[in-house]
Amino acid sequence: MASTATGDLLRRRAARLPRVTLAHLPTPLEELPRLAAHLGGPRIFIKRDDCTGLAFGGNKTRHNEFLLGEALAQGADLVVWGAGVQSNNCRQTAAACAKLGLAIHLVLACGHSGTELQGNLLLDHIAGASYEFVDAPLGPELDRVMAERAEQFRAAGRTVYVQSRALWGRAAVSYVLAMAELDEQLRERQVSPAAVYVSATGATGAGLVLGAAHLATADLVRSVLPIRWPWDEAASIAELANQAAELLGLPPDLSAAQVRVDGGHVGPGYGQASPEGMAALALAARLEGIFLDPAYTAKAMAALIADIRAGRYTSDQAVVFVHTGGTPALFAYRGDVESLIPRIFHAPPGA
Ligand SMILES: *Cc1c(COP(=O)(O)O)cnc(C)c1O
Repeated sequence: MASTATGDLLRRRAARLPRVTLAHLPTPLEELPRLAAHLGGPRIFIKRDDCTGLAFGGNKTRHNEFLLGEALAQGADLVVWGAGVQSNNCRQTAAACAKLGLAIHLVLACGHSGTELQGNLLLDHIAGASYEFVDAPLGPELDRVMAERAEQFRAAGRTVYVQSRALWGRAAVSYVLAMAELDEQLRERQVSPAAVYVSATGATGAGLVLGAAHLATADLVRSVLPIRWPWDEAASIAELANQAAELLGLPPDLSAAQVRVDGGHVGPGYGQASPEGMAALALAARLEGIFLDPAYTAKAMAALIADIRAGRYTSDQAVVFVHTGGTPALFAYRGDVESLIPRIFHAPPGA
């Protein structure tokens, strides 16, 4: 990978933007030798962004350093946020708001999941978030409901910072820095990876791609999609990367052709466990003591495992898997764990 000077430049540019400290950084980079041996492929490294510290960790805590930094700079006293009921984003944002003394109202889309007080929702509740359930699908329709709520709170005199797609470019800046952080850790180990796998729909993939474009090459990053959007995801990731580039004073010249997305592992649908994802989840836990989540990271790991099994990498190569978090959601997937992950039972001799 490229020089430390590039990483320093990216960090200096990002330092011009409003930011709050929320995450434990740098997150560890670890090797997964038992998983690699089991698969008989390349060395596998894992970037532990499930260990960003706040509220059980995850990628949204990096995003929120810049988003809630902007919220505070704007004098916000209320944050309106939203996603699915088992949203990792909402859980991390609820905790960040508690820490920063901001009120938060969550608009949670029911989708296929129930509203049982479990997993991430349980943590939202404990962290003191106000929440409501709505029927809108994720994406522009949910954004519209959030914008509507924001207007209602503004009419009542609140200063509101509201989540929408318009924020994703700023969120992506945090993953440009994450790529610089990863680059440094890899250089210390003298490892030059053939690919970086990440579960990404938008900001996270966009930031990593932009970082990689400056530190190595953009096509190093493989964004494994947990959801299919009704638009071209590669073009959308390139657009978000270019928004982040503008915020960093860099040329916004990334094209969709440089963005590699893998839409082949969504399974039955967004947020729904897939058999290959749950098999990957069990493998990571049983060989390495790493817990993935059914909606995002398990599907990204399934993509990596499928590529290794297809012989895409040789044993003298290395790949990186970015663990973006999501583990608290596991507790809301008990049924899928029971039906898709076989129980281990060592019968005691003579019993
Ligand atoms: C939100 C989330 C992602 C996707 O992040 P984007 O910024 O939308 O690309 C991936 N993994 C986990 C665990 C998440 O919670």
